[in-house]
Amino acid sequence: MSHHPPGSEDVDLAVIGAGINGLAIARDAAARGLRVVVADRADLGSGTSSTSSRLIHGGLKYLERYDFRLVRESIRERHLLFRTAPHLVHHYPMLIPFYAGDSRPGALIRLGLAAFDVMAAGRGQGRSRGVAVREVARRWPGLSTQGLRGAALYHDAQVPWAERLCVELFLDARRLGARVLTYTTVTGLLLDGDRVAGMRVEDNRSGAAAEIRAAVTVNAAGPWIDTVLDGQVASRRLNGGTKGSHVVVDPFPGAPPTCIFFEAAADRRPIFVFPWEGRYVLGSTDLTYEGDLDEVVASDAEIDYLLAETNRIFPSAGLTPDDVLYSVAGIRPLPYTAGVSDNAKISRGHTVHSHAPAHPGLITVIGGKLTTHRALAEDVTDEVLRTLGRGRRRCLTRRRAFPGADTADWPAFARDFVRSSPLTPARSRRLLDVYGVRARRVLDLAAEDPSLAEVVDEESGALAAEVVLAVREEGAVTLADVLLRRMLVGLGADMGLSAAEACAGVAVRHLGWDDARARDELAAYEAELRRYRPRALATPASPPSGDRRTP
Ligand SMILES: Cc1cc2nc3c(=O)[nH]c(=O)nc-3n(C[C@H](O)[C@H](O)[C@H](O)COP(=O)(O)OP(=O)(O)OC[C@H]3O[C@@H](n4cnc5c(N)ncnc54)[C@H](O)[C@@H]3O)c2cc1C
Repeated sequence: MSHHPPGSEDVDLAVIGAGINGLAIARDAAARGLRVVVADRADLGSGTSSTSSRLIHGGLKYLERYDFRLVRESIRERHLLFRTAPHLVHHYPMLIPFYAGDSRPGALIRLGLAAFDVMAAGRGQGRSRGVAVREVARRWPGLSTQGLRGAALYHDAQVPWAERLCVELFLDARRLGARVLTYTTVTGLLLDGDRVAGMRVEDNRSGAAAEIRAAVTVNAAGPWIDTVLDGQVASRRLNGGTKGSHVVVDPFPGAPPTCIFFEAAADRRPIFVFPWEGRYVLGSTDLTYEGDLDEVVASDAEIDYLLAETNRIFPSAGLTPDDVLYSVAGIRPLPYTAGVSDNAKISRGHTVHSHAPAHPGLITVIGGKLTTHRALAEDVTDEVLRTLGRGRRRCLTRRRAFPGADTADWPAFARDFVRSSPLTPARSRRLLDVYGVRARRVLDLAAEDPSLAEVVDEESGALAAEVVLAVREEGAVTLADVLLRRMLVGLGADMGLSAAEACAGVAVRHLGWDDARARDELAAYEAELRRYRPRALATPASPPSGDRRTP
């Protein structure tokens, strides 16, 4: 289990934050032989990493800003992920319709796609192509053809369960020797004079404090990087993250078979309507945010904007706020850029910021995408090795399979699994999508104890064994960790509320929880869901918002 009380210790590298970037850094550094400890005040991937659009994108959008370096990096990382995590990262076609009056003319988009195809040659899923209005009307009949000038179809990638990317990075980092402490808050930095010599941590549950002394400390706290530094070391503001929200709805009249990437009429920003696990996600917004980083909730204005834009290009959709199953909001960790008038202009690349010479031993990670987490980790680990004076050690993560892809032939494994599994093909495929080859562990647990073969969530068909796997082997501590970031039944239509009691019951019978703990966990789960404004719970009135501009 990842939540064990931290003891005072000496390591090479202390990492603050177990989002996708902190975990990727831990994995890379451990693979290169460093002794690593990671601390997160909450669960793995429970910050920004669980609020994304779930795209592993080649970076087409960055061409608009001529950021060729980031496009090249994104294309390369997408290509590597197709190989190292084929169970989690899937080919994802996207249609870009061009309408009269769009600020980006179709010819310009086609030119951009042609350049993108050249850059992605041999590392993509096929070339983009133009789509005539007649074909759009036939294959995407729900899409408005009023003012439609044509469209382009291009190929990108989706990671439907981004949370599992984090879990698997954790599993691999741990396998390589890294220690990951969740529910362990970094309360301060240890200073030897100006030199940063590690971190002070506190166990959230017991309140026990400890010092983790480290030769290098990496602040990978995503949008919280300034909060971590505040009052500890002198630093200018580093994070200027923008708020992004999505809404999740059931299939609606005219809903498209593929992702539609289109220009919003209200503010000319590119936004998506995309199929996701049998539902649709509409998103995202991009707002300057100065509010509380711990209280980020989609506002009514953002929800109205996303619904209105979707209803505009899907005239039969007729979506209203009552159709929203839940919303997801997060803060993109982006570099602070003073006086920026257009958030789209803020760089989406990452920076490895060394605080030396003012504060040697401290590195802060600014920015970084899901897509480029591995490249970011490689850059950070190179810098850590330089700081340690250890010389270059080859990065091993480019070809290293994720734990769920640890097989010589993934398609053959998946075929055999579905054939030999006692479950229905649909339920077997869900296990493969969530756990990869580790789906076998779920079936093994269910075979050892038939009570663990019981279905705990009718919608997904998830098994009781998954609750046990999550806590015993995947670092889950709370019911919310299990439902939202391991089994993912918490991302279903009712956010797992109908499955929560059954899952807590499994924990009582198999994991040593008592009834009081189960009750507390259920209450805490509902409390954690409030930030998603789920329809299944009475939706509260619009929360106070720190957004500076409404869309
Ligand atoms: C709306 C939106 C859409 C996006 N879409 C995409 C997309 O489609 N594709 C893509 O590639 N990227 C996307 N991104 C970007 C991507 O999600 C983030 O860049 C990435 O998840 C950042 O990961 P991180 O590990 O740096 O930060 P986080 O995931 O936020 O992790 C930081 C961690 O630090 C911890 N922490 C904070 N303070 C402390 C403390 N004092 N002590 C201990 N721990 C602490 C937090 O608990 C958290 O777990 C999107 C982001 C948003 C918001």
